[in-house]
Amino acid sequence: MNTFTLKNNTLHAENVALNNIASEFGTPCYVYSKSALTQAFGRFSAGFKGSNHLVCFAVKSNPSLAILNLFAKLGAGFDIVSGGELARVLAAGGDPKKIVFSGVGKTEAEMQAALNAGIFCFNVESVSELLRLNDVANVMGKVAPVSLRVNPNVDAKTHPYISTGLKNNKFGVAYEDALDIYLQAAAMPNIAVHGVDCHIGSQITELSPFLDAFDRVLALVDALEQNGIHIQHIDAGGGIGICYNDETPPAFDAYATAMLAKLGESNIKLVFEPGRALVGNAGILLTKVEYLKQTESKNFAIVDAAMNDLMRPALYDAYHAIQAVQPRNADAVNYEIVGPVCESGDFLGHDRMLALQEGDLLAIMSAGAYGMSMASNYNTRPRAAEVMVDGDQTHLIREREKIADLFALEKILPAV
Ligand SMILES: *Cc1c(COP(=O)(O)O)cnc(C)c1O
Repeated sequence: MNTFTLKNNTLHAENVALNNIASEFGTPCYVYSKSALTQAFGRFSAGFKGSNHLVCFAVKSNPSLAILNLFAKLGAGFDIVSGGELARVLAAGGDPKKIVFSGVGKTEAEMQAALNAGIFCFNVESVSELLRLNDVANVMGKVAPVSLRVNPNVDAKTHPYISTGLKNNKFGVAYEDALDIYLQAAAMPNIAVHGVDCHIGSQITELSPFLDAFDRVLALVDALEQNGIHIQHIDAGGGIGICYNDETPPAFDAYATAMLAKLGESNIKLVFEPGRALVGNAGILLTKVEYLKQTESKNFAIVDAAMNDLMRPALYDAYHAIQAVQPRNADAVNYEIVGPVCESGDFLGHDRMLALQEGDLLAIMSAGAYGMSMASNYNTRPRAAEVMVDGDQTHLIREREKIADLFALEKILPAV
């Protein structure tokens, strides 16, 4: 898929030169490719064509209204983790009947909003949450459709911060307790048991953890059936990784083939919650080199994007490839690519061989997932503009924040 490619020695997003985007919209700026987003959704769905399934884009990976709207038009559902994300999906034209609501800390107000919207399913993560949801639904005279998120206790072999399927984390209920909790749920008047849910982590680059988890879920579905609880759908979660550097994540079609093979003849509906796999490689962060600075042991390229714009390197020590927008025909030098934020952890890349001059543009690659969605205003930095490229068209999908807006909600104390 040639989304971000060099043409005439200039990096393009589809048919638009990134230096033109920088001139028009400034830097730092997130740039997404509509065709990459469309193709990723199409390839993921293609594997499940003809089977009873629903692909719910994980909103937290990139909650841009334009991206949600694009996926909604392609037929996607949505995996949300807050009332804010619910409102976003509805504002973007998403179908409430295709929303699954995940997360360990749903408030009463969030439950009410989701029940009012008529979502597809609540992914419930504890007995306390089940009791609260039953109460909230009861007061509203509604019945809440529910899956329990179970912890299959498989090792997703990913970064500990983004591994969620092991016994000792805050997510889901223990596999051993699941049957008992399902029996409790089935007895609650305002709860309707619909599914089983399982999400084992993120940036998973092997197939086996998904298949091991799915085996355990299928065994639970059988056990539930024997106890008179009929399951209508299995939510297999998200978590398929992408290639940032040299990873080889499972191909979508291999994943689909393996999952469908395990399902066999059953017509149970399969729900998926991919985030990163649909958007990660469909976006880049465009930034400008402000200063080149040499110290005794290191060369720094200080750029105008920082950890507040793209937190993954600082948070997970994550790797993002970094490319010059207009590569220079000169000797490359080993650079630390860092931002202006006052933290030593504010880096975007270590040990990058590049030929740079001040004013050059760089593209931080694979920044479409957990980039803008984790951005903050640390150091009172306005969040970046976001642009979507469609062929040779460029659309501003989020304006750069204005500095005055960053403290518009604040007040100083009255004079005494
Ligand atoms: C974060 C998350 C996802 C999406 O994970 P990706 O790795 O981006 O696919 C899906 N489901 C749940 C419950 C999540 O918390």
